[in-house]
Amino acid sequence: MAQETANSIKRVGVIGGGQLAWMMGPAAQKLGLNLVVQTPQQSDPAVAIAHSTVLAPVADVAATAALAAQCDVITFENEFIDREGLQSLIDRGTIFRPGLDVLTLVLDKRHQREFFAQAGLPNPRYSWLEGDEPDAELAAKAETIGFPLVMKTRRLGYDGQGTTVVKEPSDLSLTWDRFNRVPVLLEELVAFKQELAIMVARSAQGEIAVYPTVETEQVDQICRRVVAPARVSAGVASRMEGIARTLVEALQLVGIVGIECFLTQSDRILINEIAPRTHNSGHYTLDASQTSQFEQQLRAVSDRPLGPTALTCPQTVMVNLLGLAADEATHHQRLEALKQLPNATLYWYTKGIRPGRKLGHITQRLGPGDDPTAAAAAIEAVWYGP
Ligand code: ADP
Repeated sequence: MAQETANSIKRVGVIGGGQLAWMMGPAAQKLGLNLVVQTPQQSDPAVAIAHSTVLAPVADVAATAALAAQCDVITFENEFIDREGLQSLIDRGTIFRPGLDVLTLVLDKRHQREFFAQAGLPNPRYSWLEGDEPDAELAAKAETIGFPLVMKTRRLGYDGQGTTVVKEPSDLSLTWDRFNRVPVLLEELVAFKQELAIMVARSAQGEIAVYPTVETEQVDQICRRVVAPARVSAGVASRMEGIARTLVEALQLVGIVGIECFLTQSDRILINEIAPRTHNSGHYTLDASQTSQFEQQLRAVSDRPLGPTALTCPQTVMVNLLGLAADEATHHQRLEALKQLPNATLYWYTKGIRPGRKLGHITQRLGPGDDPTAAAAAIEAVWYGP
């Protein structure tokens, strides 16, 4: 195991300067690490906590070369990088954690699915299109999945953007037209009873730390609330942990990954997608876990021993605060009201207010007899209105 004292990594580069990088700030300070952040705008949240900043888009390779010159290792809060462009930095010895092969994999949802299949991890039925197939081929591939199905852009999708349900064969061609016939993934529409997620970290020494499985609930395909631990059987929880361990071993991950899954009516677990970085479903760890996901990522990429992952309270709920169709004053009034809630911690990312944008989140620690569903509903009534 790595020794905390004999550590040579002091400066960590972070590609992306949104709220995920911002929330690394206190952990970096605790571990004595300096964060150097590559992000496009001076107003991006993580600029405030960074030791220094390279102001440039995430996929700007020359900027990442400048970042590398200031860092011992580079990690990510955003995966939309220029993979080919960064090869020249690897050739010159820059260390990326996780490795760029992991990033490449998640950049294309088809490659993710194929990797899961090779690793023996459970996928829904799926197929894919490259973009130049005739309608007959589209129809044939869709037929192997059945209707309704989900059509997703393979690249650059987030928060459900680029994900559409196709109800019947006659809608296929028009739907793909609306995607401008870009490469897409076709998947069965999973009739899930719950969506689950799990965070897991792995170090270069092969140490693995798995967090408890959580429940996530999406509204309009955007994560609205998370309950930890998930209200699932011990069997489901243990299979989730198994998936987490298998995945990080298969990836040879150095870093942390969020795994989003569907739980079917018959308790089958199917993977939806992974994100090789900290994840919205792990924000609760800041206030309700022995080691936050942000500290864990920094520990993993800087060769420090991983921290324990148990909850520090019986259960907890996290609610995302999305931008409202209201003025700034209304947002601030509602934030004041949220501050009155007991055992709750509020995070406000100080981003520009836009309806539907993730602007902050709140975590409430709960006792053993509390109902997390009711607690989330009470928080949401304050923020979103009754
Ligand atoms: P993104 O990559 O943009 O975050 P996802 O693929 O995770 O989008 O989809 C967002 C949400 O859409 C999921 O959390 C889930 O609620 C729903 N969804 C996505 N794929 C499926 C599917 N195959 N079956 C059922 N629901 C799905």
